[in-house]
Amino acid sequence: MFNLELLIRDNIKKLKPYSSARDEFSGEAKVFLDANENSLGSPLTKWYNRYPDPHQLAVKQRLSNIKGIGAEHIFLGNGSDECIDILFRCFCEPGQDNIIICPPTYGMYEVSANINNIEIRKAPLLPDFQLDLVHMENLEDAHTKIIWLCSPNNPTGNSLNRTDIEMVLNNFNGIVVIDEAYINFAQQKSFVQELAEYPNLVVLQTLSKAWGLAGLRLGMAFASQSIVEVMNKVKPPYNINQSTQELVVKALEEVGQVNDMIKILVDMRNALAEVFESMPTVEKVYPSDANFILVKIAQARKIYEFLLTRGIVLRDRSNVELCEECLRITIGTEKENTALVDAMHDWFTLQTN
Ligand SMILES: *Cc1c(COP(=O)(O)O)cnc(C)c1O
Repeated sequence: MFNLELLIRDNIKKLKPYSSARDEFSGEAKVFLDANENSLGSPLTKWYNRYPDPHQLAVKQRLSNIKGIGAEHIFLGNGSDECIDILFRCFCEPGQDNIIICPPTYGMYEVSANINNIEIRKAPLLPDFQLDLVHMENLEDAHTKIIWLCSPNNPTGNSLNRTDIEMVLNNFNGIVVIDEAYINFAQQKSFVQELAEYPNLVVLQTLSKAWGLAGLRLGMAFASQSIVEVMNKVKPPYNINQSTQELVVKALEEVGQVNDMIKILVDMRNALAEVFESMPTVEKVYPSDANFILVKIAQARKIYEFLLTRGIVLRDRSNVELCEECLRITIGTEKENTALVDAMHDWFTLQTN
């Protein structure tokens, strides 16, 4: 049985969280002399001299409407990367607990585990980039606190089979994180609607990809109210700055515009995948549910270096396990994609001469 109390680190359970000035008084007042702000103002036209809302209620209210879940199920981080780190600090005892990851996958799970001194157990994806459930189960022991899944997965681009994810959720009594950074580009639907069914589920999403707001740094974790409460205890009080909160509230009104961009990006992704499939030394273009494609091609490293001389930067993944000779290509603008394809044709011409 899942028991959250058994998963939370002892020191976090006992932690008396920092109580900010805004926690102790959040009502209306004429004169705020409680937070040692600069009462004269700021060098900007806005009132950035005041601390931001530590609970980000305006942002959460709008996200709650868009996602169709209560604000009490939402945790906000300074990028999903902060959510990842905070999950480690809530649940994993350094030098004692372990986590399971399924490489090739997003690199921050491993880095964050290492920063927090948590043992990493690896169940590599199968050749079709799906979960190896048997291997995963064999790695589990009483100290396995979190299983990290990424769907659609980075850098492979595919979604994980829904029934496999459900199998993990149903059989693992620790926390199951599903990183859905690319969910807006996918055919599969999000697990956000399944929170009521799985008390061990944490879904990560971000405004950095489909929403086009990587520079603002806003990551979201959706989970049970009790998991969100633990994460709130651990986060820095003012982790989402005032300008990000204001701009995100504005941006979240533009769902229509974002949906238009997603549609264009998905169409361009499918078109670019076809173009690459027809190129001579391309061994495989992996099916993608994200805003990038993974291409297996002879001399990947050489091509990467050649494209750099043309001012085009891809992500070379050829040293990554199961991604040998693979390049990860983010979908650009129409013009950028054309520049890439033209440069690839130049590369092939150079090879045959
Ligand atoms: C890009 C990416 C993130 C990072 O999100 P931020 O919110 O910008 O920190 C998280 N997970 C995956 C799988 C990503 O590819």
